[in-house]
Amino acid sequence: MKETIYTIPINEALEKGDFCPFCGMYEELEQEAVRYAVGAAMMEPDFRAITNEKGFCKKHMRDLNAQSKALALALVFDTHLDNIEKIMSNDLTGEKKGLFKKGDDAGEKYLSELKHVTESCTICARIENTFLRYMENFVYMLKKEPEFLNKVLSCDGFCMEHFYMLFETAKKELSATDFEKYFVPIAKHQKKRVEKYHQYIKTFVESFDYNNAGKPMDAPKDTLIKTSFLLNGEFKPKEKKLDDI
Ligand SMILES: [Zn+2]
Ligand SMILES: [Zn+2]
Repeated sequence: MKETIYTIPINEALEKGDFCPFCGMYEELEQEAVRYAVGAAMMEPDFRAITNEKGFCKKHMRDLNAQSKALALALVFDTHLDNIEKIMSNDLTGEKKGLFKKGDDAGEKYLSELKHVTESCTICARIENTFLRYMENFVYMLKKEPEFLNKVLSCDGFCMEHFYMLFETAKKELSATDFEKYFVPIAKHQKKRVEKYHQYIKTFVESFDYNNAGKPMDAPKDTLIKTSFLLNGEFKPKEKKLDDI
C-alpha cells in the first residue's frame, strides 16, 4: 500500500480532538471539493464532463450556492441542463404497455437516466474516493506504526458511521491475527464510548422525573447533541425553535 501521503492529515485529525476525527477529515475534503467545483475545475474538461452528467445532491447544492461564484455556477448549470434536456427528449410515445420487455421500452430508459441524474452527486463522488484512501491509510498505519494504536486509543472514538467504515476496511485489509491485534482494541474502546453516552442519556431522562427535581444532573449539558454526533456524525446544529417548548 502506498497511501502514506495521508499520514499527516490523519495524525493532525487525531491530535485536534474533534468528536470524530473522520468527521473532521470529511468536512475538510468537502470544503475543498466545493471550492474546486466552482474554481479550478472550470478549466478541467474531465471534471466538467462528470459535473454535466451527475449534477449535485441537495446538501452540496446548498454549499455551492453559499460560494460567491455566480458565473461559474451558472456555467456548470448551463451544461448540466443540456444533459437533462437530452434525457427529457427521450421519446415516450413509443411506449406500448405489455409489448416491450422491462428495461426495453422508452419509459424505462427515460426513468433510469433520470434516476441517475437525480441520485448522483459530483462532489459526493469526489470525496468518497479520497475518503476511502484515508480509511485504508489509517488501517495501514495501525499495522506499520507501533505507537499509532495507542494514539487512537487515547482519543474518545468515532461516530458510528465512521466506526462502521473503519471496521469494514480493517476486515478487508488485515489478516485475522492483525485484525485481532489492531482492530479489536478499537472496537472495545468504541463500545465503551457507546455505553458512556447511553448512561448519560439514562441520567438525562431520569432528571425529568419529579423525584429528582432540584438534584444536580450527573450528565454533561451537551449530552443530547453529543449523542446525536455519536449516532449520525458531526453536524452544525440548527438554531432551536423556541416556540415549541
Ligand atoms: Zn464521524
Ligand atoms: Zn453531494
